Amino acid sequence: MSITENIMRVRGQIDSFETKAGVPNGSVELIAVSKTMPADKIQEAYDAGQRSFGENRVQEFLSKQEELPKDIRWNLIGRLQTNKVKYIISKDVYLLHSLDRIDLAKVLQQKLDAQGARLDALVQLNLSREDTKSGIYEEDLDAFMQALAAFPAITVKGFMTIGPMVGGEKEIREVFRRAKGIYDRFAAQSAAFQYLSMGMSHDFEWAIMEGSNMVRVGSAVFGERDYQ
Ligand SMILES: *Cc1c(COP(=O)(O)O)cnc(C)c1O
Repeated sequence: MSITENIMRVRGQIDSFETKAGVPNGSVELIAVSKTMPADKIQEAYDAGQRSFGENRVQEFLSKQEELPKDIRWNLIGRLQTNKVKYIISKDVYLLHSLDRIDLAKVLQQKLDAQGARLDALVQLNLSREDTKSGIYEEDLDAFMQALAAFPAITVKGFMTIGPMVGGEKEIREVFRRAKGIYDRFAAQSAAFQYLSMGMSHDFEWAIMEGSNMVRVGSAVFGERDYQ
């Protein structure tokens, strides 16, 4: 299958899952996760109409952004090291999906403020408590969200989460359902809330059924990766 065919298939699946979930067609945004993929493959997806892409390494993002069309919406989805923040501040980042610690928020605020810049971000939740995963535990979330009020250059637009690595549909959907509940609670208090980013190649159907409006799909679009 070509990337163009994959994009068409995944878009069709998203449409049908939207219908199944009872949400309007077009309400779930597809982020094509292009990490490790060379620029020509991203260009192929772009030519098929795809505009939102996800990267998890700063250097890779920067060189691809340089090379590829300027209207691409670049999403940063991986753990962001504080010493890399300076490289992304003046770049056009559509959304950071992985705001996961106050340390990072502090450095972001400092550098953004110095440039008169702003950043939209999602707070990453770790609801399955897997210690290989980044993200805020549910019991720490209220305090974390309150602490973020001290960093006005960052606009929190919602949450991102990754389904548990173990367990089947039931366990994975349970985690997505909890994320949606938490999202709704905060969305009721913040007009900026807009995105619940959850669902990857193997579980985006379940994520959409549980209320995701942004899915991060890599291998189903670009094929298997050699690493990461
Ligand atoms: C790699 C990655 C994805 C995409 O994974 P696939 O299984 O290839 O769809 C989504 N989200 C995050 C945070 C990732 O690191």
